[in-house]
Amino acid sequence: SQVSVGGVLVGGGAPVSIQSMTCTDTRDVNATLKQINKLAAAGCEIIRVAVPDKAAAAAMQEIVKQSPIPVIADIHFDYKLALASIEAGIHGVRLNPGNIGSKDRVLEVAAAAKEAGIPIRIGSNSGSLPKGLLEAKMIEFKGDKRKAMAAAIVEGALQQCTVLEECGFTNIKVSLKSSDVLTTIDAYRLFAEKRSYPLHIGITEAGSLQRGTVKSSIGIGALLLAGLGDTMRVSLTADPVEEVKVAQMILESVGLRKPQPEIISCPTCGRTEIDLIGLAEKVENFIEKIKSEGHKVNINKLAVMGCVVNGPGEAKECELGIAGGKGKVVLFKSGETIGTYLEEEGFEVLKKEILNFGK
Ligand code: SF4
Repeated sequence: SQVSVGGVLVGGGAPVSIQSMTCTDTRDVNATLKQINKLAAAGCEIIRVAVPDKAAAAAMQEIVKQSPIPVIADIHFDYKLALASIEAGIHGVRLNPGNIGSKDRVLEVAAAAKEAGIPIRIGSNSGSLPKGLLEAKMIEFKGDKRKAMAAAIVEGALQQCTVLEECGFTNIKVSLKSSDVLTTIDAYRLFAEKRSYPLHIGITEAGSLQRGTVKSSIGIGALLLAGLGDTMRVSLTADPVEEVKVAQMILESVGLRKPQPEIISCPTCGRTEIDLIGLAEKVENFIEKIKSEGHKVNINKLAVMGCVVNGPGEAKECELGIAGGKGKVVLFKSGETIGTYLEEEGFEVLKKEILNFGK
């Protein structure tokens, strides 16, 4: 099935969309909008904003009005905040029904969401399962903790789906989160056998930039390769812009998005005589910067190579390439050498070539 989050389609064959979450104080509308704009420029397509209190719910109206991308309100504990956020015009609600309280409250939120025509994401998390569920699954799975946990997360989500379905609400997305990669993968696989709701995928509390990136890439990557997942968030203890960058790279790596451009760079070795790590970083940053400024980069593949041993060969497949030499760099364009330059000068020439390629 498919849902629409403020016009961004999720599920039913729609492209996998990238989400992130603001980490500003939601009550500070300007700071929150500033971060949303930064994230949208980096490629974020749906933004989730925490609504911890009434003042934050009140701020949602202005945030929704000015945000360049659809806004989802993240609600825990207080169903009234969900109602106030819906009133404020949000494009989706993320609820953890496990901590919202009575069924009546969940149903009240569902009625308001139905009226507003917005989807609800049910977020079932390993950390907030209904009481006794994990214990029951531990007995059922004879102490296999991973299987029991995956089954409990799924059961928790199914219970909440049923609550909403019973009142005729099916505009649902589901997430099944655990900070353990294998448990997460098991849970999504299991759930997909039971319901066809669009899946919001990710590894929760994945960790710092490096660890979180590895865990998310493996978890989200494995799910996407198995054909599961309709929208995703890479959760990192880092600037949310990093989450969006990593999400894009995951989608590119599994072939769901075309890199623009694909930057290949060698690992360096004893033959490298230039600062290749610095150069590769400078090239990536430059491309990111011009893209965020709205420039279209007309290159499919760009090579940044440490030496001329492999440089020319790799560069042949690339529209542009730069390879190191003795204190100098060689530039390639569509397989041909276009010049040899001092490092700094070479980077400047490369920048111009990137900007002008295909124009
Ligand atoms: Fe070493 Fe050259 Fe290969 Fe880079 S391209 S790893 S510098 S041989």
